[in-house]
Formats: sequence, C-alpha cells, structure tokens
Amino acid sequence: MFGNYIGRLMATIAKVVVEISLDREFDYRIPAHLQSSIKVGSQVNVPFHSRELRGFVVGLANFSAFADKLKEIKGVVGDKPLIPDEIMKLAYWIADYYCAPIEQAVRTVLPSAVRKRGARHKKQLFVSLNVDATPSSRPGEELCVRERDEGVAFTLKGKQLLVFQTLEAHGAMTISELKERAGCSESPIKTLEKNGLVTISEETVQRDPHAGMELLRTKPFDLMAEQQTALDIINASMDQEKPGTVLLHGVTGSGKTEVYLQALQHALDKGQGAIVLVPEIALTPQTVDRFRSRFGECVAVLHSSLSDGERHDEWHRIRNGEAQIAIGARSALFAPVENVGLIVVDEEHEPTYKQDESPRYNARDVAVMRGHLEKCCVVLGSATPALESFKNVKDGRYQLAEMLLRVDDRSMPLMRVVDMVVEKERDGRPQIFSRELVEGIYDRLDRNEQVILFLNRRGFSSSLQCENCGYVAECAECSVSMTYHKREHKLLCHICGAEEKVPERCPDCKDPDFKYAGMGTEKIEEVLTKICPNARVARMDSDTMRKKDSYRTVLDKFRTGKIDILLGTQMIAKGLDFPNVTLVGVLHADMSLHVPDFRAGERTFQLLTQVAGRAGRGEKAGEVIVQAYTPHHPAIQAARSLDYEGFCSQDLEFRNELAYPPFSHLVLLTFKGESEIDVMTAADHFFQRLEKVLPESVCYAPPMPAPLARAKGLWRYQIMLRCEHTVKMTKPIRHVQATFRVPKGVSLSVDVDALSLL
Ligand code: ADP
Ligand code: ZN
Repeated sequence: MFGNYIGRLMATIAKVVVEISLDREFDYRIPAHLQSSIKVGSQVNVPFHSRELRGFVVGLANFSAFADKLKEIKGVVGDKPLIPDEIMKLAYWIADYYCAPIEQAVRTVLPSAVRKRGARHKKQLFVSLNVDATPSSRPGEELCVRERDEGVAFTLKGKQLLVFQTLEAHGAMTISELKERAGCSESPIKTLEKNGLVTISEETVQRDPHAGMELLRTKPFDLMAEQQTALDIINASMDQEKPGTVLLHGVTGSGKTEVYLQALQHALDKGQGAIVLVPEIALTPQTVDRFRSRFGECVAVLHSSLSDGERHDEWHRIRNGEAQIAIGARSALFAPVENVGLIVVDEEHEPTYKQDESPRYNARDVAVMRGHLEKCCVVLGSATPALESFKNVKDGRYQLAEMLLRVDDRSMPLMRVVDMVVEKERDGRPQIFSRELVEGIYDRLDRNEQVILFLNRRGFSSSLQCENCGYVAECAECSVSMTYHKREHKLLCHICGAEEKVPERCPDCKDPDFKYAGMGTEKIEEVLTKICPNARVARMDSDTMRKKDSYRTVLDKFRTGKIDILLGTQMIAKGLDFPNVTLVGVLHADMSLHVPDFRAGERTFQLLTQVAGRAGRGEKAGEVIVQAYTPHHPAIQAARSLDYEGFCSQDLEFRNELAYPPFSHLVLLTFKGESEIDVMTAADHFFQRLEKVLPESVCYAPPMPAPLARAKGLWRYQIMLRCEHTVKMTKPIRHVQATFRVPKGVSLSVDVDALSLL
C-alpha cells in the first residue's frame, strides 16, 4: 500500500499535491539537478497552468501515464523534507482508512504555520559594539571612542553616548531592547552604525511561548504500588523489540500523570523522544507546566492558542531535535519527533480526539497506528476508557494496567443520586434544584468551601421526555431514543427508520403536558442567584466563554477563591483540580441518556465519573449529588458505585446483540445542502448505486434526515453503514464516489468510525 512513494534511487517523476484544494496528485518531471534533493515530503515550487504554486511531494516514481506532457519541478524549498517518511506513511494510512483525499491528509500532518508560504523563522536585529573606547578621555558627558579598524576617533555625547554605555554595560542586544534601555529612538543607533561604531545584524530568534516563566524543577515521586506496577508494564513494553499498546485504566486522582512522566523519563534515558496528547480542553497551563517543570526545555508545546509564529518555532524545535517531547492536542500526534519511544494519549475516551472535518481521523486510533509503524509503545490513559479500548484489552490486543486507588489513599467522593420525580411529587412541580443539593450548597458556603455545578446539556433537546415521570420514547428495535421532528411533528428512529406519531399524552403517566424538556445554564444561574443571593457565582459555557482569555480568567478567580460556585457545561467536566471544591452537583444527569445514539449510556457514565472526580481533590473529603429523572439507569448506577467493569460488560452485551461498535465499525455518510430536495435526491441516488456494490456483511438503512435535520441553514441527510471490516464499506463507497457527481450545492462527507451521529 505504501509502495508507490517509497523513495527509489533516481526517481524521475514526482507526485505532487499542490496548495490549493485539489483532490489529487499531479505528476511532475524531476530535473536532473534536483534528483538528489527531492524526497517524499519535500516542499517544491511547480508550474500550474499559468501560475507557480507551492506543493509537496507525496510520492516518487519512474513512470507516468502522462509522461509526454509533464512539466518540470522548478525548485525545492528548504534542505530537508518537511514531512519525515514515517509521518508521510501515516498520512497515506489516514487517507486510505478515513476515505479522504491524500492532499487533505498531507495538510493534516503538517501544521499550516509551518506549511504556509512565507512561514519562516523570526529574525530580529541585534546591535553590538564595534569600537575601542579610549578610557583616558572620559570627561563625564562626553566620550572619545576609536573605531577598531580605521582608528578614527569620535566624540560621543547625549543619546549616542547613552546607547554606547548601555551596550558596554550589557553586551549585544536586540534593537528594541536597546531602545528601551537607553530610552532613545532608532536614530542615534543608526548614526553609530553609519560611523562604523556598532554593527546591526539580523539573527534568528526562537519565539518562546513560555518566555519569562521560570518553573521550579520537580523530582519524581516515590510511586504508589499500583503506579509502580503500571510503570513496569509500560517500561517493559517500551523495551521490547515490538512494543505494544497499554491501556492505563486509572481512577481520577490515581496519579496517571506521574506514571506518564516517569515513563517519558525512561524514553529519554534510552535516547528516544515522545509525544503526549491531551484533549484541547485539558491543555491548560496547569497541565503543560507539570511536564515542563519535570523536563524543562526538552518539552515543546503545540497549542491552538499559540500564535502562528510560536507554533512554527515549536515545530522546528522538534524537527531539529532540540525538543524531544511534544505535548499538545490532537494534531500534536504528527509532531516530527525522531526515534519516538512513547506516545501517551491522555483521556483516550474523549470524543475531541476525533477531527470533525475531513480527514475525520481519531487521534487515539492513529496514535496506535503510528506506534505500530514506528515500533514504539502507546499508552492510552483514562478513568473511563472507551468501550473500543476495553474490548481491545479483552481480545488481547492491548495490555491492561489498572490503578483503582487514589494516591495517598484519599477516598473517592461519595455519590448520591436524587430522584427528581420524587422531588417533583413532593413540591407539586418540577424543580431545578433538589432540597438535598440546596442544603449541600448552603453547607459549603457556610464553611467557605467551593461548589461546582454541572449541567449535563450534551443531551439533544428534541428527545421527547415527560417532565412528570421522566418517560422518553424509545425505538422498540434499536434501544435508542426516538428523535422528535418538530416540523413533521413525529418521532423517528435514526438507526432503522421506524416512525411513530407523537402521543397526545405521556404513555406512562398520562400527563397531558407531555413535552420536550430543556433548561439552560442561563436559567439555572437566575434561579441560583435567588436561592443564594450572597454567593459569588460564575457561569462557564460556550456562550460566556467566547473570548480567548475568559476561560483562564474565570478559572484563576475560582482557584484564588474569588468565586464560590462555578456553574457550567462539559467545559468544566475534566482536568480541573481545585482542592477546595468539596461538592459537585450534577443537574439533570440523564439528559445525555436521551440522545439518539447508542453511545448515550457510555457518555453519561464517563461524564458522571469525570465530574465526580472534581470533588475532594484536596485534604477534605468530597461529595457528589446527582439529580436524575431515571436514577436507576445502569449508567448512573454504575457511575455511583464506581463500577467501570460492570458497566462495560452490560453495555457490551447490548452492543453485541445489535452489532454496534466496538463489535462493528460504523461509517456515516452525510449529505448537506441548502435545498432539501436536492440533498434528499443526491442521497437517494448515491444510495441506489452503493446498495448494488455493498457486500452482504454490511448492515445499513436507507437515507434519512439527520437527527439535526437542518444546521446552519443546511439540510442534512444520512446513510449509516455498519460492518466488522472497515474496508468492506470504504471500498464500495470509494467506488461509487469515483463516478458519482455530487450535484452543485450539495456536499458529501464520509465519517469512518463516526462518534457523533447527529
Ligand atoms: P490523575 O491524572 O490520575 O487524575 P494526577 O496525576 O493528577 O491523577 O495525580 C493526583 C495528585 O497526586 C497530583 O497532585 C499528583 O501530584 C499527586 N501524586 C501523584 N503521584 C503521587 C505519588 N506517588 N506520591 C504523592 N503524590 C502523588
Ligand atoms: Zn429503530
């Protein structure tokens, strides 16, 4: 599969993808004088119609079907291929597996900050002295200096003298620093230069995103027994000839990060590099500092909030071997670390590892592939590993390391589940806050402790739920909740296409007020300020967190005790570590159960476990109060009793029966466009052609409106396929795609191993 691009001696043809969105490779002839310098991954300039474009060599060959018409490559950019060979292999794998054009895969593996035309190292002007001062002639305000070569003497006064003295005292510096220190404009410096007294030279500087931050070095902890066992498993795997993948299942607070740190040290000791992936949302300075304070300069951070320039420099620090450890979100997986010994994927179950545009790759899965290609150990860590990973352990593909105790024997927080139906009966109407939760909050406010309130809003508001009894309409065939389609006023199953009328009243309790539930953080904040008027409350959700720094500002305030109650959505569920938080409240825990998605139970379990982990991180014990309409749901009960394995076995059984992942792979085709009829027709036509070439082992349903039938003005129709083997779906899809013309105004996206079914 990789055969066509492996560099052969003296290849004469280069396959080039160009930097405009064209979904194919172009063949170019390699001129003789460039033959030794062009490699796979090289950046080149090529003629394209009447223009010259920048492109990347993605393959080399000796033959071309268009041999007589080929144009020549104009030149090579830079002396080393920007994309190392192993990463190019990964790009090919991604394009193949995720049904994406190679050009997009190549773009994915190389950050735009590096790829961009004009991206280069930042240059700064340095000023240094050129002269010999004559010490004898220093009558205070003036100074006689002599140029070294010419021997001409100058007398300096005023600003020129100041500039001179500054350089004399502190040595060479950047022109901006000099201006600041001497309190002058550029002109006296220029005059000195003109007279040959100073030299202004251009030098490359490294933009350090952490400049000015001194970190105290931390020493490795003495590990707890479970940590030691986990580390031993990981290190042993690293030392093998063909290292494997280790799933590190460790409860929140079990000290996973310390295990990563010591495993990274092992890689460094062996002279190897490493990559650490964390979910974007957890990529806080707090997290990054833990790595930097152990390893200092050898850590490079690839962060979406870095400037293009900083990212460019961090990337090159890795490429030229100055930094051996790359840490970052999803795309850091493609960091050009050489001789990788270890890849860590923290919170491996996180859906944010999946890119939501083409190529729709999952960094967790691609990490395992990179590990396989580069023969390095991959560690997947989580308190709630994805069922896919759990099954891989069961099937013997991954090794398991478990840490079920918190470090220092701190106890896991106590979780109580409050039945909101009972609450409602007691008060005669639905409540946002249960009495238990209100009392819990008052209690913490009295003791000057802090509270996190979490609104589980991942739920899809158009599942129909009875506010009186909690009833949710579910499909009889598929064990997913039916989706309410407001426009047509009916219930639809998005797995099998079953259709139902919306009941006049709740089928369970006969409540005629049967309607869909919905409550936002805004409404909750309003109620909260009524219940506790003196508490300092901050709200954190995607509405209030628009500005770049607001996330950090709010967290800083919370950390320093200027906020009593932090209210938010998923955003506050993970990674945060506040010792003074002793109560976590979860409002409407079961909302995420009622999405038309077979992973609803798993997501709810993960979310509750993660949120609960925010309580009791310090000396004081923590408590979690979970409000739910369906308190006995297995996902909620398993989270309450910290029963990960129990939850998995139960959920796996259900998935097995219905051939859902991880027992199959799932591919979702989504057609989008402004005109509903065009979208529908395109989906139908595609489906008719696809159905003819799909092997029998593929399960599918005909196209139907997506649960989010219209988003951002676009209609959405879906075809969902499931099969044990991905290629049995992607090959036929490609086959149809090759000749199918998606009509103008309609787009088609292919999502292999889709995580979002909306
Ligand atoms: P996790 O990532 O599993 O939730 P952390 O790595 O954040 O857990 O560890 C929780 C806390 O315990 C951190 O403050 C960490 O510094 C501390 N810690 C980790 N390992 C040890 C150890 N062996 N001895 C003492 N403290 C430890
Ligand atoms: Zn169904």
